Amino acid sequence: MYLVDYHLHSKYSFDGAHELRDICETAIERGLSEIAITDHMDIYSDKPYEYILDCKSLYKELEEMKEAYRGRLKVLSGVEYGQPQANRKEALRFLAEYPLDFIIGSIHNLWDDKDAYDYNYNETDYHVVYDGYVEWLYTLAAEYDYDVLGHVTYPSRYVYMQTGIEVDVRQYQEQYVEIFKKVIERGKGIELNMSGIARGLKDTMPDMYLLKLYRELGGEIITVGSDAHLLEHVGIVTKQGYEMLKEAGFRYFTVYDRREAQFLPLE
Ligand SMILES: [Zn+2]
Ligand SMILES: [Zn+2]
Repeated sequence: MYLVDYHLHSKYSFDGAHELRDICETAIERGLSEIAITDHMDIYSDKPYEYILDCKSLYKELEEMKEAYRGRLKVLSGVEYGQPQANRKEALRFLAEYPLDFIIGSIHNLWDDKDAYDYNYNETDYHVVYDGYVEWLYTLAAEYDYDVLGHVTYPSRYVYMQTGIEVDVRQYQEQYVEIFKKVIERGKGIELNMSGIARGLKDTMPDMYLLKLYRELGGEIITVGSDAHLLEHVGIVTKQGYEMLKEAGFRYFTVYDRREAQFLPLE
C-alpha cells in the first residue's frame, strides 16, 4: 500500500517542534512513501510574510531533504497558506518568490487577524464566527491559488472542545455546496484532515457527511493528511483515511508532483 501524509508541520511553524530530518526518519519507519511538509504561512493584514515563516531556511533545508532521501522517501516542499485575503499583496508576493510542490489553502484567522481557535464560544455565539468562516473560505476557494482546501469545518472542533456542541454542518450545506462547486470548477481539491482522529478527538475535517457531499458533486481531488505537529502523529492515520475515502465513494486519492495532481488507486 502506498502510504502518504500530506499535511505535516516542522519546527519552522510557530506551533511546530521537530527537525525535518526527524520527520523524514519517522515517516520511513512508519512505512510512508511520500510526505508533504506544509508549515504555516498565515497571512496577516499588517505583516510582511517573512515575519511569519523563515522561508529561506525552510525551503533550502527541504531541498537538502529531497536529495538526502531520494529513492527512499519523496519529500514535497509545501505550505499551509492561511487566509491570503488578509493581505493580498503579501500573499501573492510569497507565492511568486517560492515555487512550491503543494499548497494547502486554509482559513484560520478571520477579522482582526483573530484565529477561530481564539474565540470563547461560551461568550460568542458560534454562528457569528462560522458565518464568517464559510464566507472567507469561499473567497479563498474562488480567488486564490492553492491545490486543496485545508481542514474544511475548522471552527467546529473548537466549538465542540469548548462547549460540547457538535455543529451540524447541514446548517451550512448551501455554503459548502457553493464552495465545493467552485473548488471543482477550478480543478482544485480538498484534503481529508485526520488530525481529530490522530489526537483522539471526535471527527475528521470535513466529516463523512461533507466528504460524501463533495464526492457527489463530482469532487475527485482529495489528499490525506494528519496535520501532525508532533512526531508521534506522523502518518499514523493514513490507512484510516483511505478507508474513509472508500466509504465516501472515492476510488483514488491524490498526490502531487510540482503542483500537478496525480491519482493513485485506493486498494
Ligand atoms: Zn491549519
Ligand atoms: Zn496544519
